[in-house]
Amino acid sequence: DDAGVPGRVRVAVRLRPRNAEEMVADADFADCVELQPELKRLKLRKNNWDSDTYEFDEVLTEFASQKRVYEVVAKPVVESVLDGYNGTVMAYGQTGTGKTYTVGQLGDEDMAARGIMVRAMEDILAGVSLETDSISVSYMQLYMETIQDLLDPTNDNISIVEDHKTGDVSLPGATQVEIRDHHSFLEILKLGEDHRFAANTKLNTESSRSHAILMVNLRRSVKGKDSTVSSENSSSLQTVKSLKPSVVRKAKLVVVDLAGSERIHKSGSEGHTLEEAKSINLSLSALGKCINALAENSPHIPVRDSKLTRLLRDSFGGTARTSLVITVGPSPRHRGETASTIMFGQRAM
Ligand code: ADP
Ligand code: MG
Repeated sequence: DDAGVPGRVRVAVRLRPRNAEEMVADADFADCVELQPELKRLKLRKNNWDSDTYEFDEVLTEFASQKRVYEVVAKPVVESVLDGYNGTVMAYGQTGTGKTYTVGQLGDEDMAARGIMVRAMEDILAGVSLETDSISVSYMQLYMETIQDLLDPTNDNISIVEDHKTGDVSLPGATQVEIRDHHSFLEILKLGEDHRFAANTKLNTESSRSHAILMVNLRRSVKGKDSTVSSENSSSLQTVKSLKPSVVRKAKLVVVDLAGSERIHKSGSEGHTLEEAKSINLSLSALGKCINALAENSPHIPVRDSKLTRLLRDSFGGTARTSLVITVGPSPRHRGETASTIMFGQRAM
């Protein structure tokens, strides 16, 4: 199992259960996908007698709990962030297939439904010591190649700053809120959601047309490496070394609820502009190219093509850990979109 191998993108597929409408409208039809979770396989139906088979790192059926999804998709990334490495968790799929349910569900009414963002913060809070470490979060929306601050609606054009020496990416203009407990984090997520809804109403658009990005910045103070080594060798040496000030180790976790992947195939027809379709297409296909490059072990990851990939630059490849969950629905009516989502996931592997 290479759950912990950095550099490679880990891809899970999750099937949403049929909703009430599909249970009625598609009652006479079989689901367009059939999962074989033990074999980590997904079968996409071509017709009544034939299907294509695909393998994934993990196959999550409609019965998979939110807890299990978190453990499979995000927990290894969160653990590596606690160890000081950057990490990314992304949800990709057609609108209505469960991206937001998977990553963003608050679960304040039903604890069992808590999504990845909430569970990740629980593990981070449990894994640090707030006396010496700090956690801060930023929450943004990326729409039409513009980054809007979801924690401050007046801040609607955040720029990305790249340190060309270290490769580090920062967003100095984004609001950063320090998180000290779980409750304050939930409040931040709710505030961000409200602002996202208001911003999109004002822009006359829908959340499926933008990416929601949560960035968790972790600063941990760790004792210098030398003191650990020397403690095995000589106690007198350790006394000297332990006088060394501890160093601050930074790591960040980025969780992305991507724009609906169907936007790649649509333009103009549904009241949104061609420009909007182009920019969604640009960022999702740039993301696809980067994860293909990672999958092929290419030394060059083409991050420069979009803001989304520029922003993820230091959370991709190298020592960073990346996990992608692709979400699909069961309806045979959306077989085409489901096929294209599956192909996106396959190219990442
Ligand atoms: P997306 O963000 O991809 O557009 P949503 O997360 O909003 O999709 O999901 C669409 C609807 O389906 C929501 O009402 C959501 O609660 C429901 N849903 C999605 N995935 C699941 C699931 N695994 N189990 C139960 N309901 C789900
Ligand atoms: Mg959504």
